[in-house]
Amino acid sequence: SASPLGNSVIPIVNKLQDIFAQLGSQSTIELPQVAVVGSQSSGKSSVLEALVGRDFLPRGSEICTRRPLVLQLLQTKRNPDGTDDEYGEFLHVPGTRFHDFSEIRREIQRETDREAGGNKGVTDKQIRLKIFSPNVLDITLVDLPGITKVPVGDQPSDIEARIRTMIMSYIKIPSCLILAVTAANSDLANSDALQIAGNADPDGLRTIGVITKLDIMDRGTDARNLLLGKVIPLRLGYIGVVNRSQEDITMNRSIKDALAAEEKFFRSRPVYNGLADRCGIPQLAKKLNQILVQHIKAVLPGLKSRISSALVSVAKEHASYGEITESKAGQGALLLNILSKYSEAFSTMVEGKNEEMSTS
Ligand code: GDP
Ligand code: MG
Repeated sequence: SASPLGNSVIPIVNKLQDIFAQLGSQSTIELPQVAVVGSQSSGKSSVLEALVGRDFLPRGSEICTRRPLVLQLLQTKRNPDGTDDEYGEFLHVPGTRFHDFSEIRREIQRETDREAGGNKGVTDKQIRLKIFSPNVLDITLVDLPGITKVPVGDQPSDIEARIRTMIMSYIKIPSCLILAVTAANSDLANSDALQIAGNADPDGLRTIGVITKLDIMDRGTDARNLLLGKVIPLRLGYIGVVNRSQEDITMNRSIKDALAAEEKFFRSRPVYNGLADRCGIPQLAKKLNQILVQHIKAVLPGLKSRISSALVSVAKEHASYGEITESKAGQGALLLNILSKYSEAFSTMVEGKNEEMSTS
């Protein structure tokens, strides 16, 4: 069950990590965080979950996400027998591996209630969850409470301002990628997501527009102009998606079935013909992957100099041993091997041929 997020990025990151490992260095690429923003019930948690490819987030028609969930994906090695060992670990439950993802969801709900109460309260205290899997990219995703206007339950009268401040504290970080989620059955010109993303990222350099609920638009309307950026232009553009409905959730419809249904939805509607690159969760994942690859390219020169100086210090160490012994010659060969591997990987990435790289 591979996550659609990272498909083209995992091989590159793995290769670079191999190079660092051979140099005995821990340094790896730090990828930007991805945060979802938008109105309550716009489909933020649904989008994140689909990107991860596992069912584990509380979703629903009422307020579900009431604390920021910082979700760290961590890539592990596949078992020798080829099976995957995927599990979650919470910061607040150290040492316990959650292999059952529906149990992860229940723990998020319990831990939300513990800190924010059982009556719709919202708090900025994070829940931190790590997901270990061979199928993910080392990246951090942040699920955030949605913007609400009218206080309900235990919410204070300034709930909207509080949530906005909380969201801003994540998305103002210049490296944070913003998924600005708006439901297709609401007015894009009034989108909380685009408004708050615009505050944090006025030039739109790190905001991707996500239009959800294309399946429940008013009869006779469609999202074509939204997706084309004709309503509100966005530099990085929009992706339209169809997530699971409340009924699908109640009926326990799987992510796999939902993705198949989404694909069929777009295929069977002529109005979305010719917009294939703007439609569907796989396209959203692709777009994110492309941005991550761009990011890697941008940080590569810095990595290159770090690798070079690591090589220099290894070479100096060699020199200090004096005469070259048999084993030192072996190390020299290893060094050369690493260098050539590195420059090969480097040029492949810079030329943007990452799709052709093998996963090995
Ligand atoms: P969040 O509050 O923004 O995190 O939204 P959720 O992901 O919890 O979704 C809110 C509700 O909208 C849930 O009942 C979802 O099943 C439903 N929903 C989300 N996306 C879609 C979609 O694309 N189509 C339909 N029909 N329902 C959706
Ligand atoms: Mg949510």
